[in-house]
Order: sequence, then C-alpha cells, then structure tokens
Amino acid sequence: MRVGLFGGSFDPVHRGHVEAVAAARRALELERVIYLPTASPPHKPDRRLAPATARLAMVELALLDEPDLVVSDFELTPGDPAYTSASIEHFRRLHGEPPVLLVGQDSLAELPGWRRWRDIVEQAGLGVLTRPGFDREATLAAAPSELRAARRAGRVRFVENEPVDVSSTALRALLAAGAEPSPGQVPDLVLKYLRKYPNLYA
Ligand code: ATP
Repeated sequence: MRVGLFGGSFDPVHRGHVEAVAAARRALELERVIYLPTASPPHKPDRRLAPATARLAMVELALLDEPDLVVSDFELTPGDPAYTSASIEHFRRLHGEPPVLLVGQDSLAELPGWRRWRDIVEQAGLGVLTRPGFDREATLAAAPSELRAARRAGRVRFVENEPVDVSSTALRALLAAGAEPSPGQVPDLVLKYLRKYPNLYA
C-alpha cells in the first residue's frame, strides 16, 4: 500500500495539519497518510511539549472525519528520540512499499539538518506542503544540490494545497494568554478538547 508519513509535534494540531495533508493525499495519490506525533523532536531538544497522550488524542479528534488520515504512536517512545529514517524503514516493511514523507515548506528548509537526511530522500519520496510565508524557489536555491537533483528526478514534489495560515506556536501563545482559537484555526473537536483541559497550555 502506498502511504504517506507526516511527523510533527502537533502541539497542538491545527487546520493546516489537516487540510494541507488531505490535499497532498489526493494530489500524490496516497491511499492513507499516517500522522506520527513525536515524543521529543531530535531537532528541538529544549522545548517542553504538552503530554504525548494529549497531543495524540487531539490528532485523533482532528482526523475523525477523515477516514484516510490516521494517527500512529510509533514515534511516541518516551526518552527515545524518534528518527524519521527509522520510521520510514518501519512503515516500508509494514506496507511493502516506500512511503512518501510529507513535510511543510519550513521543514524542507530544515531537512539538511536532520540525521541521515540523504537517506531519507533516498528511502522515501518527499511531498512538500505549501505553507504561507515560505518561498519554494528560495528554499530550493539555498538547499544542497542533492535536494535540487531529487526534485528534478521527481523525488521531491510540491503540493499545490490551499495555504492555511496557522501555526502551533501562535496557538500556544493564544492559549497561554487565556484566549480561544477560532474555528478557522483548529477543528471543532480539538477546540472542545482545549476547552475541557484549559491548563494544557496555560
Ligand atoms: P510549531 O509552531 O510548534 O513549530 P507547527 O505549526 O510548525 O508547530 P509541527 O507539529 O511542528 O507544527 O508541524 C508538523 C509538520 O506540519 C511540519 O512538516 C510543518 O512544516 C507542517 N505544517 C505545520 N503547519 C503547517 C501549515 N499551516 N501548512 C502546511 N504545513 C504545515
């Protein structure tokens, strides 16, 4: 089965995480996209995240109406930084085909800092989601030549999704200030969850 993998902190999940990925699934003809909330992002070791159980629960709630978008706890091993290359290998074995790794445009710019990034591009195709504020050509121009070569070879594909201008950082700031996100920013059930647990980001 041809699947996509979509990793992140999802702290908290928002509409950008759902709508851009739903568009990518259709554009890249993936049967399923598996969201992989991460326990402690190897590239953000100093940031304290909301509990993994809460982030996982919110991703599940955000995806309830999306039968082809699912969540896995594969990267949620506490104290064991999850490396994308290991997840790609796991899901390749499970589904018998190399997965496509979905990343936002900002993450594409950071990719050359990831452990074994060349292997990641080799192991999996890359689907890059449009994210407001990031320029595709500028990112590619600044990227190592292997990434540009991978694009020419069709291993890096850009998805023309409708841009959704929301970030988890902005949502955490809003929630910490005691304000409520708008329904345009987070799915309704996630909003209900955030109301039920007001101390998550206090
Ligand atoms: P933070 O603000 O905490 O860095 P984030 O909003 O970037 O969070 P992450 O959980 O870090 O969310 O992102 C997971 C993946 O989703 C990354 O590949 C990121 O680039 C992508 N992404 C996040 N927000 C958007 C968006 N609005 N549109 C498209 N892609 C996005």
